[in-house]
Amino acid sequence: MGNPSAAVLLDWYDRHARQLPWRLLPAQLRRGRRPDPYRIWLSEIMLQQTTAATVGPYFRAFLDRWPAVVDLAAADLDAVLHAWAGLGYYARARNLHKCARAVAGEHGGVFPDTEAALRKLPGIGPYTAAAIAAIAFDRPAVVVDGNVERVMARLFAVDENLPAAKARLRALAEGLTPQARPGDYAQAAMDLGATVCTPRAPKCLMCPWQPECEAQALGIAESLPRRAPKAERPLRLGIAFWTVRSDGAVLLRRRPERGLLGGMMEVPSSDWAARGPADMVAAPVAADWRELPGQVNHGFTHFRLELRVLAAQVRKNAKADGIWVMPDALGDHALPTLTKKVVRHAFAHACRAPHPSTSSG
Ligand code: SF4
Repeated sequence: MGNPSAAVLLDWYDRHARQLPWRLLPAQLRRGRRPDPYRIWLSEIMLQQTTAATVGPYFRAFLDRWPAVVDLAAADLDAVLHAWAGLGYYARARNLHKCARAVAGEHGGVFPDTEAALRKLPGIGPYTAAAIAAIAFDRPAVVVDGNVERVMARLFAVDENLPAAKARLRALAEGLTPQARPGDYAQAAMDLGATVCTPRAPKCLMCPWQPECEAQALGIAESLPRRAPKAERPLRLGIAFWTVRSDGAVLLRRRPERGLLGGMMEVPSSDWAARGPADMVAAPVAADWRELPGQVNHGFTHFRLELRVLAAQVRKNAKADGIWVMPDALGDHALPTLTKKVVRHAFAHACRAPHPSTSSG
């Protein structure tokens, strides 16, 4: 069995590269077009934890509104968070804005072109720095995402569990990364994982590396990469307080900047604790609280959350920390998915006012 070669994969990419809104195809590069680092950076931040199909419309909307990094830097953070709603992980949107400001303010609106300098920017970790260096600047950076890990694990039949196998998979990927066309190669390896060497039912007959693939020869491709069994995510409990003023306005407040959903609007809630809040100290205002039927469930990466929702009507001049929002204006705010769930739950069970426009995301 021979060694897999980058040239074979690049040949395949020349014929099968996916058309993506942020991508220049090999033929366009040959005609002298150069990638726009702003577009590559924006797409890479959006693609973290999100599929290319979901990202497409967001990417176009951001570009329409903020065509260059200096435009994004000059935007209001709230406008950016609002446009981001639906992509999840709002810390990324906040860092996106911070990074745009750093590029505009400290680099004259021009992205640095090395991995080391890119990593100093907010929100750019090792993977994203490597991807931008390779794709935007054609540097031979080693770009390893989940797709590439899977391809390497199969190509070299690595049966060690992830995440322990990461260093080895990276070293294998490094060994294949070419000096010629490294940007196309990085995208080719990711495309191969996304379209051919898929997690289930890899299409080995269509794979340019099939003759060299050890896992395929051994008949174990689909079982790789191996993963350590996942621990069950713990459950945390909390209470959300649905506070409705006599004129119909509801109370929202901004979460602390640090921590989960940092800086995002929420229906005021207690801490999220393993055992559940023991009392009502978190209530935003003294009132006659009653519990709504059912609960709101939400999954975060490291825990599951179960929120009970308590509702109360208060006087028009009631004092409470936060902002009062009329139901038909809720859609004007960048609400994270958890807040939208609480709002929908409350409207379904407590309120006769019309349902606000809180599309899911
Ligand atoms: Fe993946 Fe099959 Fe190609 Fe091996 S031959 S890299 S398992 S698609």
